[in-house]
Amino acid sequence: MKDLKHIHYYEELLEDANNSLVRHARSEGNIAAGYTCYYVPEVLLNLDKAFSIRLRAPRTGSLDISQYYMSSFICGYSRALFERAFEGGYNFIDYWCSSETCQQMNRVVENVHELKLINNEKFGHGIIDAPLKVSEHGLKHYITQIKAEILEPLNKKYGVDISDDSIRKAVKEHNELCAIFEEISELRKDENPRITPREMHILSLVSYACPTSLILPYLKETLEDLRERKADETNRWRARFVVVGSELDDYTFSEIMESCRAYVVADRYCFGTIPGRTRIPLNDDAPALEQVCRYYLDTNMCPRFMSQEKVMQRHEEILKYAKDFKADGIIYEQAKFCDFWGYERLIGPAYIKDKSDIPVMTVDREYVISGSGQLMTRVQAFVESLTLKKKQKERGKK
Ligand code: SF4
Repeated sequence: MKDLKHIHYYEELLEDANNSLVRHARSEGNIAAGYTCYYVPEVLLNLDKAFSIRLRAPRTGSLDISQYYMSSFICGYSRALFERAFEGGYNFIDYWCSSETCQQMNRVVENVHELKLINNEKFGHGIIDAPLKVSEHGLKHYITQIKAEILEPLNKKYGVDISDDSIRKAVKEHNELCAIFEEISELRKDENPRITPREMHILSLVSYACPTSLILPYLKETLEDLRERKADETNRWRARFVVVGSELDDYTFSEIMESCRAYVVADRYCFGTIPGRTRIPLNDDAPALEQVCRYYLDTNMCPRFMSQEKVMQRHEEILKYAKDFKADGIIYEQAKFCDFWGYERLIGPAYIKDKSDIPVMTVDREYVISGSGQLMTRVQAFVESLTLKKKQKERGKK
């Protein structure tokens, strides 16, 4: 297939957290709101002149300093963010919207604050406490926290319009972005899809790492290109997978999948398109803030939720993706030392094995994936075993 429109530009944007679109938005007086977790509703950081950036630390090398401050038993993502902040790589962030949802990230924000690592006179930060259960009481608490730690500071400190109209406008733009991803995602259901896992991962990452209003026109053109694009005549994919797991912002993961001819049909991991790139429904009956917060709690599939209904929702949704996207297998990936995904990696596959005959593989991995021979060997072996099973099944039918 010929190169996808703008793909090289997207790769360039992903080389730096403070990429050219972020710099452009800030040069126009806009407010950069960094965040790291689905518990912080992205769309609420895109109100008026504020814009969201889901934080990454591209080109991460040594993590010595973060290890010194936070030990080595902390997930690589948290350590990489701390290290980058220490190096001055996040001085462009005006407001850091964090959540007390995992203690590791919490320590990053506390250290950033205590050590005054962000050299930006406008800098501020807020940490929300999110509920552990989805209930009317939990929703109320969530809204109160978001108001106090995110919306009001954005309004008071930077003059951001946080009115109901402003929220509705942001949701409209967010939904335009999501509509693009919903359409592209459907293409992955084809037997011989016209988009590769690497391309999809890159598109998803730029949509999180750049100001929505600036990346949107490019993504619209990419979608046009995809509508016209023809898949290669020979289907090179040997098996199809749902990938589930923790924070994954290094698209080398998808390159490894591709090199093993493994196709990612659904990406349910932090920075993936599920659930972050699905449209938020809004009606006129209730305040937009309430509807947005309800939506984020309802669709949140983070293993931090331990109530029975949320646990079941997570497992059932994964089985549903596997069915809808005709997956041959499921891969659970866990960032090393991520506690939540550590136990989810045990209970999720056990449930799936009990309720279906879909093969599951689990892996843990570093934040920086390039050069991970172990990951490649594991994926290759899994693909091999699935191909063998497929052949045996076909033979059995004859
Ligand atoms: S990968 Fe896990 S430990 Fe790391 S920030 Fe995300 S939830 Fe926290």
